[in-house]
This record gives sequence, structure tokens and C-alpha cells, in this order.
Amino acid sequence: MTTTAALDVAEVLARLTLEEKASLLDGSDFWHTQGVERLGVPPVMVTDGPHGLRKQAAAADHVGLNDSVPATCFPPAAGLVSSWDPELLRRVGAALGDECRAERVAVLLGPGVNMKRSPLNGRNFEYFSEDPLLAGALAAGLVEGVQSRGVGTSLKHFAANNQETDRMTVDAEVDERTLREIYLPAFERVVRQARPWTVMCSYNRLNGTYASEHPWLLTGVLREEWGFDGLVVSDWGAVNVREDGVAAGLDLEMPSSGGAGTRRILEAVADGRLAEQDVDRAARRVLELVAKAQPALAEDAEPFDVDAHHALAREAATRSAVLLRNDGGILPLAPTGGTIAVIGEFARTPRYQGAGSSQVNPTRLDTPLDALRAALPDREVVFAPGFEIDAEEADAELVAEAVAVAKDAEVVVVFLGLPAAAESEGYDRTTMDLPAQQTALIRQVADANPEVVVVLANGSVVTLDPWQGRARALIEGWLLGQAGGTAIADLLTGAEAPSGRLGETIPVRYADNPTIGNFPGEAGTVRYGEGLLIGYRWYDAHRLPVAYPFGHGLTYTTFGYTDLDVEVIEDGAEPRVAVSVTLTNTGARAGIETVQVYVSDAEASVYRPEQELRGFARVDLEPGASETVRIELDARAFAFWDVARGRFVVEGGAFGIRVGASSRDLRLHAVVRLDGEALEPPVRADATVDQLLAHPRAAEWVRERVAGHPFEAMLFDPQHGAMMRAIPLVRLARFPGSPVSEAEVREALARFDAS
Ligand code: BGC
Repeated sequence: MTTTAALDVAEVLARLTLEEKASLLDGSDFWHTQGVERLGVPPVMVTDGPHGLRKQAAAADHVGLNDSVPATCFPPAAGLVSSWDPELLRRVGAALGDECRAERVAVLLGPGVNMKRSPLNGRNFEYFSEDPLLAGALAAGLVEGVQSRGVGTSLKHFAANNQETDRMTVDAEVDERTLREIYLPAFERVVRQARPWTVMCSYNRLNGTYASEHPWLLTGVLREEWGFDGLVVSDWGAVNVREDGVAAGLDLEMPSSGGAGTRRILEAVADGRLAEQDVDRAARRVLELVAKAQPALAEDAEPFDVDAHHALAREAATRSAVLLRNDGGILPLAPTGGTIAVIGEFARTPRYQGAGSSQVNPTRLDTPLDALRAALPDREVVFAPGFEIDAEEADAELVAEAVAVAKDAEVVVVFLGLPAAAESEGYDRTTMDLPAQQTALIRQVADANPEVVVVLANGSVVTLDPWQGRARALIEGWLLGQAGGTAIADLLTGAEAPSGRLGETIPVRYADNPTIGNFPGEAGTVRYGEGLLIGYRWYDAHRLPVAYPFGHGLTYTTFGYTDLDVEVIEDGAEPRVAVSVTLTNTGARAGIETVQVYVSDAEASVYRPEQELRGFARVDLEPGASETVRIELDARAFAFWDVARGRFVVEGGAFGIRVGASSRDLRLHAVVRLDGEALEPPVRADATVDQLLAHPRAAEWVRERVAGHPFEAMLFDPQHGAMMRAIPLVRLARFPGSPVSEAEVREALARFDAS
């Protein structure tokens, strides 16, 4: 059933029976909402997934995984993030929106902005980054793009869904400051900036309560604080107690519960456990979603431009790969010269996307081998597979053939990667290592010919040390979508200059990562024990060497940074800081640089990570050209979540501004002073003498009361003073000969406490 008449939400809502309203809160099948025929409310279709459309062609099977119609497979988020380019994601989003329109899909189920907490999360390929600013900025671009075409998105998985092990039940224990500063900001940014039509709650529990029935999360934070006015849909099968979900702010259950959810809702209303207004509210949101989707659905479906979308997928893929090293400028490959040996099954059978609900049936598929041959018509390109992707053991014949081919070549390009089964939605990885037969092969090949270039295909980081020393150049190809093969050839030959930057740190070893001891949890609980120290925040705090730092990426030219200027702008309620820097292309080729701004807060009254990414900009420069780049930082760039006050605060003082090409290649430094708030610490009844001496008003009172008294000498004695000052003043007051009484202390402390 379709209708062209625009839905009058208020009128329809007024005419719906309670039973009809409750029925709207359940899907009608795996991918459709429920309609109400008598009032002209059509069902609408929602479908996966973040980087391509996965619309099931035939009737949905019970797990929604059978064949889908052909659609463009863009690089998954793990690739796209390396572009550090929200504008590119806007264009990809608009193309996805057009594919949805062509297939009459109302809502695309993505993007996913969960943080990359552990390198082993099986679903990291679908997520952007270990940094919330980067993830939020890029995902906002994608959402804006899709929605610019009159199609909705579903920002997922809200929240703290950072692993696949026990994903449907695990309880993520995360302290509030960590949630506010690390796990929620990407969602917040997208909600505030891009206004997604829907948000998808996650499967897991958060601090004891299922996300699908978490009032603080779904109503307090999402709607009351961030102003979200769309619909909250369950992840597929995330509903626990349906009526509790409705009360908490979960509007729509998916897939259809076959009426079970509706019955529970009606029973709960009948016996007074659920307010009818809560049902009305959720039903209104479903109707509003249908109304938003109607204009696009009312138009005739236009087929999308398959070639243009493939070209965009190719452009996106070239931006998604990261050139990690290029010793002696072995890349780019010259158009003429000796034989090129291409080794590795992945060159012929590329791995270009991940498995699970985001798996797309691509419109076509480029292979690196074909693309390289086409791009280098004047060079001989010979191929040897070297290994079988899914085999456990090395195949001696394949290895011997690869070594022989390498020996006779001028340069060897080896394609390595993770087999599809090594990472997927639904389970976590068991190791960060590449299959042993592949790392053995690289050594054997490099022994035969040291001119080795390695191209990787993996959705999440892999261990590079110690074998990476055998490669002169290394391209982290992530998963690059259906045009990744051509994109890799473009980068290898220099038709395109590499421009990707890492959105996640590549640690030296798995054992260095922040979640050791706290991943994937035990007895149904996972404790986020590393707190704020996710990704580079951890490696920086622990002064750990990394294989490649967050933000790293090379190109075929070099850039110079000069003239850092930092200016405080005070023209609004909150101060902003303008950072400007001059960038010069100091090499011989055109290239794109991503300027990164990190902020440090050495004077804070709370622990703060060493440095945090707070701004970035891409600059495209011809050789010899210069440009002054201006990046504005808002107040949030300097703020921390103040647990006692329950809000973000900017504490006055000096902040370090570090500008450079990666988190560990910081070229210029400056200091900026912000007035901020003078934060008076709360004065508890059991405050120690030291705590009171650190308090602006209490200090004076304490000093006055002990002045000239033997207690003064005792408190400031070089040997024992520190020990004495660690005693709560209220207890010291009971010591023999105290200059103040306990009652006096209590009365004074209550006066000083402004919290
Ligand atoms: C996934 C979601 C997906 C949904 C529908 C779930 O298993 O977690 O990301 O959108 O299925 O396929």
C-alpha cells in the first residue's frame, strides 16, 4: 500500500485507537514499519547498512541475511575515516540516499559511531575511530548527505556497544565522565549537527540497565539534553521488557515481534504500569517518521547512476587507504621499467567489506591485479597467489612459485590481509596477528627480493612488527569497497596521491592496548577500566612506542608548518580559539595534508589526557604553494565533564595548542590562556587540611585560626607537616590543644561549600 496524500500526524493520532497506536510501535516484518490502512498510514521500509544498501531482494529470511539487490559498496567506515573529510562523506551519503530512493527505502540503518575501544572488536570495520571528535565529524557528514536526499538515517548503536562478545546482554560498566567525554560525544555531535531521523539503541546493558530501556540514555541525555526529536528504534532483537522500553523512550521495536510487543504494551496500559501518553508519544514519532519519508516515496523511483556511484566509490577508496611508510621513495611505481611481481591471493580476490548486516551485494568489483595491469600497460605484471586465503597451513608449491616470481622481478607488490572469517559482526577477533602463513611468506619473498611493497586488507588493526621491516613501503588498505582495486592501482602508480590518515593507533603489540585485563569482560560484565584513556590517549599517557600513531599518513610530497598563531575570540557567551598556521608544500608533487590540532591542559584540577584531537583541516597544495589554514576551536575543545556539577566546564588557565601531521608528529606549539570558570572544589565535612588550604576561601580561614599556635608549626613542619595536613580538620579539632572546636569546623565548612 502506498499513498501520496501527506500525512497529518496530529489528525491521524487523534483518530487512532489505543490498539492501533500500540501496533505502530512494532515492525510489520523484518524491515517494515506497521501501517494503518483505514487512515492511510503506509508502512515504510528501513534497511542496512552504513556504506551500501542491503535491501533483501526476496522475502526476508528469519535472520535477514539472504541475498540483497545490487548496490554500490562504498568503503566501510574503517576506510572512510582515513579521509578525515566530512565533505567526502556528505557526497557518499547523498549517493547512498539516491540508492535508497531508487529502492524505495525510507531509512538507511547507519552510521555506527561506537568507539574503537579494543583492536579485537569484530565490528571495528563498521566504526570510525578511537577518537570521538573524528568519528562524530565524519558521521555527521554522512548523515547530512543521506538526509539531503529525503531519506532518513539511524545513528547506531546507542550506546557503549564496543564489542561483539555477549553483545546482546553484556553490561558495560562505564563511569559518567568517561561516557561523557569518550563514548557519547560522537552521538551528540551527529544528533546536534545533522539531526538524524532515527537513533538505534544498542543490544547491551549500560551500568546495569539495557540500553533499550534506559531512561537516562534514551530520554534524559538524548532528548532533554541534546534535543533529539526523532524516533528511537531498537537494534534488531534488542527489546527486553517492551513496556519498560516504551516508558524509557524506545519508540519502535524491530524486527516485528509478531504482536507480542503490542500485547505487552496494552496489558501494561490496562493495569496501570504504563501511561497511555507514553504510547501516544511513541506512536506520534512513528507517524512523524512516515511523514518525513513520504515526499521521497511519493515520487517515481529513479534508478541510480551505477557508473557515477562506482566512480565515487573509487575516489572514496583512494582517500581511505593510508601510506604508512615509503622508504627511499619506492612508490610510486614508474610507468616503465622492469617486471612487477604481484603476489598474494587478495590481489585477485580482494577483501573489500565486512560480514554481517552491513554486507552489500556490489554492482561490480574491481581487483587490484586487473587494475594494475590496466594502469601499467608498458610494464610486465606477473602474478603468483602465494597462499590460499582461508587455508590454515602454507602451501609449499604456492610459496615456491611466489619466491621464484619475486626473484626475477624489479619490484614486488604483496597483498596480505585478514580472511573474511577472522572479523565479523557477531563475534570478536581472537588475535591481532595476520595468519602465520602470510607473515612467513613476506619474509621468504623479501629474502628473494628486498624491493617489497605490502598492501593490506583488514577491517581493524593488525600486528605489523616485526615483519614490516621487510617491506620498503606499506599501504594500509583497510576494506576499500567495490572500487578498492582500482584505487590501490591509482595510489601505487601515483595517478592519485595518497592522503589517508590513521583514525586509530596501530599498536606495536596487542598486549600494549588499553583494554588488557578488561576485554571482553567476564561473568556478563565488561568494565571500562582504562576510563578516558582510549587509543592514543593511553599510548601517550604510558609513553608507549606504537607501530604508527593516530593521525599518521604519508603522501608523495612533504609539507612545512610555520607561523602558528592562536587568538582568543570573545564575541559570544563562550570563548572560542582561532588557530592559524601556514602550510607549504615543500616537495615536488601535489598533495593533500591533514593539519591536526591537539589541546593539552597541564593545569587542570582533574586528570586530563596528555592531549586530545580538537580540530583538523585538509589542505590541497601544488608543489611550492603555501596556504594559511584557520581552525576554530569551541569551548568544548577545552572543557571536561565535571562530575559534581553534572556539566562540561572550562576551567580557567593555560592550555597547550599543538599543531602537526599526526599525534606524534607535532610541529608547532603555543599556549593560550582562557579565563574559564574558577572552580571552587566542593568542601566536604571530612575535608583534610590540605584540601582546605587548596580552597580559595577556606584557606584563609584555616591559616588565621592556626596562626601563632603550636598547631601551625606542626602543620607546616618539613618532616611531619604533610602527614598532619592529610588529616580531616574536623578530626584534628578533637586532638588535645586544638585551636578550633569540632563544632566551629563543621559550621565553617558548611559555609564554604558552594556545591
Ligand atoms: C545490527 C544492526 C543492524 C540490524 C539490522 C543488527 O544485528 O547490530 O547494526 O542494523 O541488525 O540488520
